[in-house]
Amino acid sequence: MQNPFQNAMEQLDKVIKLKNFDDEFVARLQGPDRDIRISIPVKMDDGSNKIFEGYRVEYNNALGPYKGGIRYHQDTEINEVKALAFWMTIKCAVAGIPMGGGKGGITVDPKTLSKGELERLSRGWVQKLADVLGPKKDVPAPDVNTTPEIMDWMSDEYAKITGDKTRATFTGKPLGKGGSEGRGPATGLGGFYVFDSLRAQLGLPNKCKVVVQGFGNVGLNAAQIFIQNGHSVVAISDSKGGVYNGNGLDIKKLEEHKKSTGSLSGFTDSKNLTNEELLETECDVLMPAAYENQITNQNAGKIRAKVILELANGPVTPEADEVLFKKGIPIIPDVLANSGGVTVSYFEWEQNLKGEHWSEKEVFDKLHPMMHDAAQKVFENGKKYSTDLRRGAFILALERIEAKML
Ligand code: NAD
Repeated sequence: MQNPFQNAMEQLDKVIKLKNFDDEFVARLQGPDRDIRISIPVKMDDGSNKIFEGYRVEYNNALGPYKGGIRYHQDTEINEVKALAFWMTIKCAVAGIPMGGGKGGITVDPKTLSKGELERLSRGWVQKLADVLGPKKDVPAPDVNTTPEIMDWMSDEYAKITGDKTRATFTGKPLGKGGSEGRGPATGLGGFYVFDSLRAQLGLPNKCKVVVQGFGNVGLNAAQIFIQNGHSVVAISDSKGGVYNGNGLDIKKLEEHKKSTGSLSGFTDSKNLTNEELLETECDVLMPAAYENQITNQNAGKIRAKVILELANGPVTPEADEVLFKKGIPIIPDVLANSGGVTVSYFEWEQNLKGEHWSEKEVFDKLHPMMHDAAQKVFENGKKYSTDLRRGAFILALERIEAKML
């Protein structure tokens, strides 16, 4: 497994070769403002005490409070959290929101915990970090394996400790408990708006054949939204593997199939695929929506998509980036493609601070032009610097952050 933070820094290196940025500014971006590691003791249901390792990385707050999700995963470690916090810094700047970059996590497989243990662990994370969090300081959100319910426990714990009643310290909360309408589908929908803005410029047809890796919040919502907009999802997978139907899959029925059988395989009128096969399937748009490092120099040469829309964070390694660039396969980078999630998180924060509640239509009406504007600015930068869209996005972000820091 490649070190994701090294990947992130390689991306930064490539960008500063294309455009001259101030040396001190670049040095500031080569490491986080602060990286915090905590031990969280949790009383387990059997009466024993177990210690979990947790993290919060505050990368850069030039544009506003640190913002970024909290990941619960058995493989989560500090380099992953640092990389994700760096990408959040870039992402918030690309999306044009007044937020900086941060990220958090706990090394844990949440499926091994009871609900009570999960709640005590989540509250424990807040108890250790309450001093550095706050609506104007650092605003966490959900990420892989963290849910609106977990955000509600955390928000409640923060209010108990500090007396803060705004509920603006955590986003991604449940509706009715300070959450925003539209946060669930926001990342998939934002990805669709970005794709739709760039589709014709990237030479894609009106009706695209789409392949999705991942069947979670992002992958599933994106699949449904693409279908609602006239495209077809020909293959989709979860961690155990995927299914293929060249005429398009019925995602609603597939969801029911997974609920009743526990897996995607064996779905009517479809062929089973491994995740490797899925990534190499011929299609117009390949959307990795699972985890990092899925497209590497091992399989990049075999990719047969016309365009890659990175809905996950860091799914394409820097080496694979080069291979795909040479093959002429454009990548719509994560920092643009999945920025709809953090943009609606920012809307939630704003609603909490103003004591407002916007309708889903208001949320989507605000999101759409922001995603379109970001996509077009990234595309223009790609042309201006004769480079790929990732570097185009990074240049846009670095210009915006540098303007605030110098
Ligand atoms: P999730 O936990 O809801 O879903 C992850 C999905 O990936 C699951 O269906 C899981 O089965 C699948 N998966 C795991 N390993 C896989 C593998 N090797 N091959 C294929 N599928 C695999 O997580 P999510 O919230 O949908 O996040 C997915 C990605 O999107 C992550 O990289 C996350 O950082 C990124 N992201 C999420 C949001 C958000 O709003 N949730 C916002 C921005 C970025």
